[in-house]
Amino acid sequence: MTDYIAKAMALSGQVRIYSAVTTGVVEEARILHDMNPTPAVALGRVLTGAALMSQTLKGENQSITIQIKGDGPIGGIVAVTDSKAGVRGYVYNPFFDVPLNDKGKFDIAAAVGKGYLNVIKDIGMKEPYIGYVDLVSGEIAEDLTYYYAYSEQIPTVMNLGVLIGAGGKVEAAGGFFIQLLPDAREDSIEKVEKCISDLLPVTTLIHQGKTPEDLINLIFPDEDVEMFDTCPVRYQCNCSRDRMERNLMSLGVKNLSEIAEEEKSAELQCHFCNKKYQFTGGELLKLLDGVKSRG
Ligand SMILES: [Zn+2]
Repeated sequence: MTDYIAKAMALSGQVRIYSAVTTGVVEEARILHDMNPTPAVALGRVLTGAALMSQTLKGENQSITIQIKGDGPIGGIVAVTDSKAGVRGYVYNPFFDVPLNDKGKFDIAAAVGKGYLNVIKDIGMKEPYIGYVDLVSGEIAEDLTYYYAYSEQIPTVMNLGVLIGAGGKVEAAGGFFIQLLPDAREDSIEKVEKCISDLLPVTTLIHQGKTPEDLINLIFPDEDVEMFDTCPVRYQCNCSRDRMERNLMSLGVKNLSEIAEEEKSAELQCHFCNKKYQFTGGELLKLLDGVKSRG
């Protein structure tokens, strides 16, 4: 099954629900970054959260960046999505593991530790919108739920899961995002909570072969659900030599001339896809001229 998001309205149009299967994308990220199980689960949850959140964007060139920084061994997590669930991300430290928690699950809270979460929304305005909250649990879904409640004042339920098999491979990944619409009745959030209280873990359902539409129908079995279009989820990096040149030029005359004269070459690696870009001394000097001519 390919990865995609299903979208619907439920509870007589009072809530919107997006649900996603992201098993392939999370496995792709795990292989790309050669991650141990715990960091793979952590990044998989954030990538899935970003993919779901992308569906709240309205314009082609809009994006959302989720940054998590904590004092745990993972150090930090970054995920970026465009408005069509083209996601990319990385963790600061992909090679650690921590013991399972007392429920026998990957201890993402311990991996992340105490810290904060930033959501940067670029919706084409001059300045991006930046929301900042302290981490409430480090388990990701709760933290993103808290971000919506605190920073955007929208009651939201987020559920994210990644299942890793015995060989370290991602066997199921996905989640759902339920948000009250502005004129929803006061008791809608309790209804939503009742609907999800008996739900099996989302990774169990996806592992059984349930589709994003199945997840929506399982959450709201007795309610009128109106399904909309679907959106594929892809792992997609947008790095380029051009972008790397701009990064080098942004270092400024002093730093760039030091690299050009002392190192005589530079190798830049993209954090998101690990592609390497080489620059010779001559190319660096040319970029330096470019910076100087701009004044
Ligand atoms: Zn890249």
